[in-house]
Amino acid sequence: MALFDPKAKIISGYQRAIDDRSSSIRKYYDEIGKLYYDQYKDMNVDNTKDINTRCEAITRLSNEIEDYKLKILFEKGLKKCPNCGTENSLEYGFCFKCGTKFDEDSSKEPKTDFEEAEAKLEEDKEEAAEEAAEEPAEEASEESEEKAEE
Ligand SMILES: [Zn+2]
Repeated sequence: MALFDPKAKIISGYQRAIDDRSSSIRKYYDEIGKLYYDQYKDMNVDNTKDINTRCEAITRLSNEIEDYKLKILFEKGLKKCPNCGTENSLEYGFCFKCGTKFDEDSSKEPKTDFEEAEAKLEEDKEEAAEEAAEEPAEEASEESEEKAEE
């Protein structure tokens, strides 16, 4: 009856949040590749700013993914040792593998705010949409021509 397990539902929500971020990261990697290539092709083009923006977004999304992974662990009754990364039961005071002492908060739910992170992702999507809209009309019409030919 996994479908009716509230924990399973929470975990799948976190998993979706991770998947969303993973696909955003893949999209940013693609865009960075294209921006870099455009710059390589034409020395007058400087896409450094656009590339850096996307690198920062990737870093932020990666951190969020790590947060969600910790939240999933928490739902499973586990926490990660800050020293060796081994998964320990939430109630352990010391890592069973390396003996590192867990701080008092380690058995509490990780702090990341799900909604806040979700809002950030929406902002990113809106920004990306705005940027896409700002692209030269020339490119857009080329694209629609290609689609018409298909
Ligand atoms: Zn450890």
